[in-house]
Amino acid sequence: MHVVRPELGLKEKLYLPSIVAGMGITLKHLGRSLRLMIAPEKKKTLSPLDMSATGMVTMQYPEEKWTYPDGYRGAPVLVKDEDGREKCVSCQLCEFVCPPRAIRITPGSIPASSPHAKVEKAPEEFQIDMLRCIYCGLCEEVCPEEAIFLRKENPIFVGQGRTEMVHNKERLYELGGIYPRPIKKWALK
Ligand code: SF4
Ligand code: SF4
Repeated sequence: MHVVRPELGLKEKLYLPSIVAGMGITLKHLGRSLRLMIAPEKKKTLSPLDMSATGMVTMQYPEEKWTYPDGYRGAPVLVKDEDGREKCVSCQLCEFVCPPRAIRITPGSIPASSPHAKVEKAPEEFQIDMLRCIYCGLCEEVCPEEAIFLRKENPIFVGQGRTEMVHNKERLYELGGIYPRPIKKWALK
């Protein structure tokens, strides 16, 4: 197929007009950034979308934090009940349903001597790879024990390597803490 190349006019042949136009855009963004530097309190209340709309894209983390939109559901964590008992029974439903396969569970048994021996199972290890997680919330939806929730209170997850971005059971309970809920399916009667 023959592609017809348009003839370049004098303006296109001279590169200076394009450079001036580019500098104009740069100055426009510089003006916006300077305005936000003069009024930094305005920048702290901006959502990520507002930030890009104003041209202000660099955030001084961790001194500055994102404000999340209302629709943000949070990140998955494990929670314990009011008695400090882990609610997860390592049924692995969340591992099965997780679309990017971010969850890895090693099922374990609760010893017969435990006051919670009636439950029989608890995870020996529970990992969520936060580099894989897409924050969809399916794990929370499917959990029959209300043991895994997406919580908004979590900080932004940062790490110095991939291994630090895989949250183990200890970290997941540390982030989730105690989450009182009316349903206590496994409580002794
Ligand atoms: S939020 Fe979605 S992607 Fe993340 S662990 Fe749960 S099911 Fe998997
Ligand atoms: S978090 Fe819920 S769905 Fe996942 S293994 Fe534990 S009890 Fe099952």
